[in-house]
Amino acid sequence: MNRPWANHALAQELDTALAAVREAGLLCRSVQGLIDPGTLEKEDKSPVTVADFGSQALICRALGEAFPEDPVIGEEDSADLRQAGHESTLEQVVGHVRVQRPEADTDEVCRWIDRGGAKDYSPRFWTLDPIDGTKGFLRKMQYAISLALIVEGQIEVAALGCPNLGTELMGDRGAGTVLLAIRGAGVWQVPLTEKGDPAAVKASGQGDATQIRFCESVESAHSSHSDSARIADKLAIVAEPARLDSQTKYAVVARGEAEAYLRLPRDNKYKEKIWDHAGGVLVVLEAGGRVTDINGKDLDFTQGYTLKNNLGVIVSNGLVHDDLLKTIKNLGVGQF
Ligand code: AMP
Ligand code: MG
Repeated sequence: MNRPWANHALAQELDTALAAVREAGLLCRSVQGLIDPGTLEKEDKSPVTVADFGSQALICRALGEAFPEDPVIGEEDSADLRQAGHESTLEQVVGHVRVQRPEADTDEVCRWIDRGGAKDYSPRFWTLDPIDGTKGFLRKMQYAISLALIVEGQIEVAALGCPNLGTELMGDRGAGTVLLAIRGAGVWQVPLTEKGDPAAVKASGQGDATQIRFCESVESAHSSHSDSARIADKLAIVAEPARLDSQTKYAVVARGEAEAYLRLPRDNKYKEKIWDHAGGVLVVLEAGGRVTDINGKDLDFTQGYTLKNNLGVIVSNGLVHDDLLKTIKNLGVGQF
């Protein structure tokens, strides 16, 4: 594979992140393939639990081997898994991890998972969402594996795995893709599993706000659909919003298939989590886009595991960002 980043000082970080996300993507795919369509009605969340822990184990193993000093702020820890009553879940996690790491034993898998248990800010750390968009995963729709390296509060490296996103079409249940970025050096897309050289990624050049398409969460509990409808109305946006789970929304904006991603707060209590954004943010910035909160502030990744200095998230191709912020302000969106 051609590696346009080969001479960059953070090339090893990006190579490690890519290999780790690919391993995790394979695990998630095989677990998702086993989901029985009746699972949703039964509200059985165990497949996503297995994939979540398995993905975190594989990625933290790889990071631990390459960068043993680096803390990882991940979404999961193994405390629950080790509790009585969860033996069968733990056994399944270990079984799936062993497909790719045959040497792994149960204690080792738990130790790998717990490498992702950091909570506090440090000058250099990774942040990981082993499965972002758990609802999408269970629905056999979109989900993401998001990994980013943060140094001195800046996102330096990102690998955003989107196992069900096609390489071209938005929303397509495609062969899977990984978006890769290094700050100041660029963003590329590679297939999740097949061989192929990195392809360029660029945000949309549409500057007329009436002509844009935006994406938002499927879950209205995560982002106000009524406020986004008011914004669309005010800006006279014609296209219907694209609803997708997970940070695949960032991928879609980075690839120019939508001009914006709106994440509009329902209250001022919920604090966004860094692992739900870090990977996606760098991918969009390097594609020429812009990311702020609803008040136009940059996202602050120096506050531990939450974005406690920010409210909501607005992602765009850059060209329509000010129109979005102005409309949000005029409509009083997020004024609680
Ligand atoms: P999405 O797939 O874009 O709907 O986002 C999924 C993420 O939403 C999950 O990873 C959660 O961390 C996060 N989340 C959970 N509750 C909320 C909430 N009340 N507001 C915003 N995000 C939330
Ligand atoms: Mg998440």
